[in-house]
Amino acid sequence: MLRSVILAASRSSQVERLVATAPFTRDVVRRFVAGAGTDDALRATRALVADGQAVTLDYLGEDTTNPEQANATRDEYLTLLRLLSAAGLTPAAEVSVKLSALGQLFDEQLAYDNARAICAAADAAGTTVTLDMEDHTTTDSTLDVLAKLRKDYPSTGAVLQAYLRRTESDCRELSGAGSRVRLCKGAYKEPESVAYQSAREVDKSYVRCMNVLMSGDGYPMLATHDPRLIAIGEDRARWFDRGADRFEFQMLYGIRPEEQQRLVGEGYTVRTYVPYGDQWYGYLMRRLAERPANLMFFGRALVSKK
Ligand SMILES: Cc1cc2nc3c(=O)[nH]c(=O)nc-3n(C[C@H](O)[C@H](O)[C@H](O)COP(=O)(O)OP(=O)(O)OC[C@H]3O[C@@H](n4cnc5c(N)ncnc54)[C@H](O)[C@@H]3O)c2cc1C
Repeated sequence: MLRSVILAASRSSQVERLVATAPFTRDVVRRFVAGAGTDDALRATRALVADGQAVTLDYLGEDTTNPEQANATRDEYLTLLRLLSAAGLTPAAEVSVKLSALGQLFDEQLAYDNARAICAAADAAGTTVTLDMEDHTTTDSTLDVLAKLRKDYPSTGAVLQAYLRRTESDCRELSGAGSRVRLCKGAYKEPESVAYQSAREVDKSYVRCMNVLMSGDGYPMLATHDPRLIAIGEDRARWFDRGADRFEFQMLYGIRPEEQQRLVGEGYTVRTYVPYGDQWYGYLMRRLAERPANLMFFGRALVSKK
């Protein structure tokens, strides 16, 4: 219930104004977002790579409504990739891209052209791109763009969301040789017609999808902070004899950092998803919705009036 309210608020420009201008917001944002600028992104990446982690960088922004904004997002990724390469941070660091930030909602061809330019820059920098998955109305379009990009850039990563009923079948489709697939639970508010609603059903779906990916020929990227699913992932890695170069765990910046370090210590590849930029509102609200206990963090910041 609370999750639905927070996710509904994530689409409200009125609530956005309220949250964005509140004095305590900065402290909350800082926990989940590396900073506003490219230099903040590089600094966070450097620190994580020094700690033995891999990174995927997300320039925040989504639901872009005009070509200028979409092209500006593309250009930021091109700059970022150039700087990552110059700093020797590739291939440890790759980028995650939301097609809606590149124009998908009003011009799918423009989103494809922009994503293709980013893939070309990533390729030149010796690294990869993963297409984030957004709400279910964009799934087919995103998978179509992915298929086109993979013709020239086969390492382009997909994201599949275990809460969608279709995902087990999508996992089968995308479990072929070389296919990089991030499996996550899913972060949007989705209707029952397309998505499992209870946490138990979503977790069961996640395990079924993980079995398909881990027993397949691709490169699974298990994106979760859930201790039970991580333990099952470790178990499946043993079953299917997948070493650190044949799958990875992924987690979000600022969430369970000790667990990230524990897994690195166990010899696993762990990639942290590092968001940066000033368009943090939708991202932050999804993080709050996942764990309403995070609202306490908001509450404490509010009381301390910093
Ligand atoms: C690398 C990465 C990339 C992602 N990309 C996408 C994407 O492209 N599309 C998409 O829809 N979703 C994406 N997600 C989000 C994902 O779908 C989930 O919403 C999110 O990961 C929470 O699910 P969980 O598996 O961690 O399990 P949950 O059941 O939500 O959490 C399990 C435990 O993890 C901890 N935890 C989880 N979330 C938080 C939090 N916000 N703050 C503090 N502790 C927390 C808590 O201890 C919690 O009990 C991504 C997640 C990751 C890790």
